Amino acid sequence: MKSILKVNWDSNLPIYAISQYELQKEGIHCLLLDVDGTLVNRKSNIIPKAVKNWIIESKKLFSLYLISNNPSKKRISKIAKELNLRYKCNASKPSKKVTLSAIKEIGSEPKNTAIIGDRIFTDIIVGNRCNIKTILVKRLSRDGLPIKFNLTLTIEKLISHFIK
Ligand SMILES: [Mg+2]
Repeated sequence: MKSILKVNWDSNLPIYAISQYELQKEGIHCLLLDVDGTLVNRKSNIIPKAVKNWIIESKKLFSLYLISNNPSKKRISKIAKELNLRYKCNASKPSKKVTLSAIKEIGSEPKNTAIIGDRIFTDIIVGNRCNIKTILVKRLSRDGLPIKFNLTLTIEKLISHFIK
């Protein structure tokens, strides 16, 4: 049985270093994007320039949708508006319901869909539960650069190792 903790692509890169060409090669048409830690630092609402540029380029190639567990509609809608993307907040990942409704709204097949996020226990698990591809990226710091040491992810990987 495939573990729900399995990451298809553990990139070790920030989202803006993910190659759109590689995604296309995998047959991806649609990307579900986590927000906090993935597109912006959790404590900041300033979207790094590199992220904005990556989104602009990705929009030409994929359908994009923001899926955030953050309950603040004010925060997530502001980020979504700035990037001109559809969004869902309070998504309760790893629960499937909201993520599946976004996939349905886009009209994408699971095999052509991927989720990109910075956490195993929310983004990766929901991706596996929805049968879509999973991409783990580095969490962003306030300056828009990837953080050097991610304690949450280190703990999640440790736990994953034991419960696999
Ligand atoms: Mg996150």
